[in-house]
Amino acid sequence: MIKSFFIVNKQKFLFVFMMLVLAVLIVPIQGREDINPPLDITYNPYTTSLSSSTGTATPIQESSLVNYQAKSSPTLELLSSRKTQADTTLSQKTVYLTFDDGPSKLTSEVLDILKESNIHATFFVLGEQVKRFPELVTRVIDEGHALGNHSYNHNYEELYKGFSPFWSQIKQTEQAIAAITGSHTSLVRAPGGTAGHFDDTYFKLLKEGGYQVVDWNVDSGDSKRRGVPARDIIKDATTPINSDQVVVLMHDGNGHEETVKSLPKIISYYKEKGYKFEVLTPELPNLESFQFKVTKSARALQRPQPSEEWIVTNVLPNAELFSHGKRLVMEIGRMETAFKQGEYRISDGKIMVPLRTMMDKIGVNVRWDVNKKLAIIDTGLKSLQISVATDDWTIVNKNTISQTMNIPVQMNGNTLWVPLREILNATGHNPISIKVSDEEWRIRTL
Ligand SMILES: [Zn+2]
Repeated sequence: MIKSFFIVNKQKFLFVFMMLVLAVLIVPIQGREDINPPLDITYNPYTTSLSSSTGTATPIQESSLVNYQAKSSPTLELLSSRKTQADTTLSQKTVYLTFDDGPSKLTSEVLDILKESNIHATFFVLGEQVKRFPELVTRVIDEGHALGNHSYNHNYEELYKGFSPFWSQIKQTEQAIAAITGSHTSLVRAPGGTAGHFDDTYFKLLKEGGYQVVDWNVDSGDSKRRGVPARDIIKDATTPINSDQVVVLMHDGNGHEETVKSLPKIISYYKEKGYKFEVLTPELPNLESFQFKVTKSARALQRPQPSEEWIVTNVLPNAELFSHGKRLVMEIGRMETAFKQGEYRISDGKIMVPLRTMMDKIGVNVRWDVNKKLAIIDTGLKSLQISVATDDWTIVNKNTISQTMNIPVQMNGNTLWVPLREILNATGHNPISIKVSDEEWRIRTL
């Protein structure tokens, strides 16, 4: 009787195990699907039709225009999708210590303790505190810790009356951080956590904007009321959970002296248990497992929904901020050329390239008329003249002007930056397909 019970369960176990193996094998293949993103993303991505004659890119269906709310953008879904391959480091016990509401005068004490223990942590900062203590933000980065965005002022009433005020606080804090560190952080933690606050719109639009939302799975309880004693914080922060991946919520804002006091004991607990200490990064494949589920009460709040136009203007182009690790590869005829990370940039939702480098790559000569402030590109029979003063692009055909367009360019130092789509079109290399992967944009042109 007992024996047969075990045999039946063994078979069940084997079946479940095989299904899991299959799932692991199938998921990465699906994640590699080609999509067809627009080149300039201020252009409505749902009407862009760079229809492919190669069959490699998936055309965006007209119907997705109508059904936008129900269907998220394929471009941005891919941009925000994380690497799906199994990460071997996940098999190891890992603890992510996180500190919210700082920086404050307590942050330097936290940093000292982390330094002595030779470990790193993640700081979810408030924009208004960042402005007050910029030197602590610098220290956090210099000492190898990670920064996340915890809104500007932590005011629940403002943040949770609708998505757009939440969004503007995220942007405000992001800019305050970028002004100090020079880079944008895509990690976001909701003040008070997402539970009871975030509805599906908050989760969906933040993801489409290129952000990763992280809650926690161990709460140190240090903010459940004022002055929680260190011994209680230690107890709650070291409560075992059913996971090897632990994200501990703590606070380094004003009034959290007891958290600082408890920190050495919390660290030694996890060290003794064999955990390694890591910082949260956008690349972690299991980040979403640290998100709370949308609650019924949050769904029932019926807050104003942002308009489709607002989303297309604000949220969708935003994901580009976090995608410039990609190479930009162009296939022009049989030739292939690429811009590395940092050699191109995104401005107002457009991919911009330096004109001279771009022309060098495709073997076309550029002259510079100093008096008229004109860049002159000779492409055999025609020449293209770009005026830095007026943004006019004039195509001259055997001394007669055949076409003039007004396309904004940017002059920085001696470098003239031009939008990629327009320069390709103007030089007769119209884009015919675009593919995007975790590593690169790949553009095929005529
Ligand atoms: Zn907080």
